[in-house]
Order: sequence, then C-alpha cells, then structure tokens
Amino acid sequence: MKTLGVLGGMSWESTAVYYRLFNQGVRARLGGQHSAKLLLASVDFAEIVARQQAGDWRGAGQQLAELAAGLQNAGADAILIATNTMHKVADEIQAAVQVPLLHLVDATAEAVKAQGLATVGLLGTQFTMSDGFYSRRMQRQGVRTLVPSETQRAEIHRVIFNELCLGRFEAEAKAYYLDVIEDLRTQGAEGVTLGCTEIGLLLKPEDCALPLFDSAEIHAHSAVDFVLQC
Ligand code: GLU
Repeated sequence: MKTLGVLGGMSWESTAVYYRLFNQGVRARLGGQHSAKLLLASVDFAEIVARQQAGDWRGAGQQLAELAAGLQNAGADAILIATNTMHKVADEIQAAVQVPLLHLVDATAEAVKAQGLATVGLLGTQFTMSDGFYSRRMQRQGVRTLVPSETQRAEIHRVIFNELCLGRFEAEAKAYYLDVIEDLRTQGAEGVTLGCTEIGLLLKPEDCALPLFDSAEIHAHSAVDFVLQC
C-alpha cells in the first residue's frame, strides 16, 4: 500500500471525515486490521481563512506547497488537498513536489460522468463558485456547472464559514441549501456537486431528489483506489 500525504485542517470538521473514509476504504478492501498509511499536515485554519479574505492566494499556496514538500520528504507517495477551495492553488502545490497530486475536481468530474450526467449544480465557497478554477476544470473534463445566484452564493458562503466549519449543522441552513438546489434543478442541473467538503455533513443523498456528488467522499474513495494500486 502507498502512503498518502494529506493537507488537512481546512476545516478539521471535514478532515475528520476524510480520515474515517480513508481507513474504512482500506479496511473494506483489505479486511482485518488493515488501515490507511497516512501522513497528515493539519493547518491552523484561521491562518488560511485570513489569507483567503486578504486575497493572498500566493502566500497560502506557498504555505501549502511547503507542507506538501515536507510530506513528500517524510515518505508520501501522493499528495491530497482535503478541501475544494484550496485547489485554487493546486498547480503551485503540484509544482513543489514530484509525487502526484490527487486532484479533487478530476475525481468529482469522473464520478459525475460515471452516472451519465453532463450538467451539475455547484455549491461551495464563494471562491469555488465564482473564481472559475473549479468550473473550468470540470468543463475540461466535459462537465458543465451551474452556479447559484449572487445572493444565494453569499448565503451559502456565509453558512460554510459561520456554521459548517465550526461544526454547526442547522435545519434552517439545510432548508436553504435544498431551495437553492431546487432552483438549480429548474435551470437544468441533473445533479449537484457538493463542492465544499463540509456540505456532506449537512446534506445527505436522501434529503434531495437530485443525485448529490459529495466531493469529500468521492475524493477519499479515489485516493483509496490510488494507494491500493499495485
Ligand atoms: N472545506 C471547504 C471547501 O471544501 C471550505 C474551506 C476552505 O475555504 O478552504 O472548500
């Protein structure tokens, strides 16, 4: 089994989910007491949030690139960024290491295409929904993304940082997100990408008529496939 280097803590609420999924995935495949070989660099999320708010993507990219290089030196065979938003600086992080970066958007696009869908709604932080890095990469893989309105994006973003990343999962937020998904459905979305690793803690597939693509779950499963490849 290969060793996975994880950049986590963004937020730790979802890194905990990834940790469980890596280990469950390895146990499901190898059985017995088998568990995932992991190296985790977990940041102080407040530092990353401050950089995001200041638009200091270069600084954030450098910080994560240095951590990725450290994980590689410690023996990681691949790097995984356990969040959607910081894939905005995925190229900088990949440039700092020789091992592959297991890209969340590619894994998510593959999962969408495997269901035979071509157009999905995208929920995530304002950066993920508006900055284009996510939608462009999905488009390159043949998947079209629809984003919520400006007002809806602001509220989705607010809930992510003020509630989900702080471990709060409220019925009101869930109802709001489901209303947004309904709007996206009427605009042509055949499914919805939960393009923020904490949204899967709020919304479950049974809450929604459309198929949900939970980025954390899809990303973690694809990483298990990678580490167990011979
Ligand atoms: N974990 C979230 C994501 O998947 C948001 C946190 C962040 O801004 O990094 O985008």
